[in-house]
Amino acid sequence: MLVNLAEILALTKDKKAAVPAFNVYNMETVMGVIAAAEEVNSPVILQGYSRLFDSDNGYYLTAIMLAAAKKATVPVCVHLDHGAGLPEVMRALHWGCTGVMLDRSTLPLEENIAASREACELCAHAGVPMEGELGHIGAAKDGVSTEHTRTDEAVRFVKETGVAALAVLIGTAHGRYKQAPVLNIARIKEISEATGLPLVLHGGSGVPDDQIQASIDAGIKKINFGTDLCYSFLDEGFATSRELVGIDMFMRGPVEAVKNFALSKMKLLRADTIL
Ligand SMILES: [Zn+2]
Repeated sequence: MLVNLAEILALTKDKKAAVPAFNVYNMETVMGVIAAAEEVNSPVILQGYSRLFDSDNGYYLTAIMLAAAKKATVPVCVHLDHGAGLPEVMRALHWGCTGVMLDRSTLPLEENIAASREACELCAHAGVPMEGELGHIGAAKDGVSTEHTRTDEAVRFVKETGVAALAVLIGTAHGRYKQAPVLNIARIKEISEATGLPLVLHGGSGVPDDQIQASIDAGIKKINFGTDLCYSFLDEGFATSRELVGIDMFMRGPVEAVKNFALSKMKLLRADTIL
């Protein structure tokens, strides 16, 4: 069933579990994720990266995500990931997303707050809850930032913007890590208690399992997996015989690989205990 971002995150209230959010790109990655969610009865967030919302990719992808969400036996949120600005947010709302992220985290605090509040108000008119980002979560190839989101700034950001969820910079980055990241678990706990809001961990691919679980115990409620889902799909595709010409048959292996990847993360996040 289709639910919005606030509704799906509310399911984790008082539970030591988080909702997995998977970046999907096509029908097959959607099918793999949904098959996993239904198998272990886990809520799940399907999300499309901002770049896709600058072209027809987002138009088609959102339609596929929505079709899957409406048919699914588990709660599914359809989300814009790292919305770069109002054009992407507008398209996400128009195409039917039930969650939106605006990422203006590279701006100074005042400007990030102003931009996030504006987008939040816009989304509120459509009844769509928003995720904001405070502290820029960069690319792992550039090195992981040792500066972390400040608690006092998080409290102010949440109060002045009206976001329903907050992505924090606490030791992760996007892409493949050169060395295992070390998360600031104490800061997650502090921000969680001070804001009372579901917190979001970006750059979940490559974070050691024990740190993922410690971050959940400290207040992380949504964890994003992008890079490793892509590799699960692509590696299986490259290993598939060229003799398989029917594209649906060619895609069976990659869909299964995505499903198995999603299953492992749902269990790691204890998402199979939420419902
Ligand atoms: Zn991210």
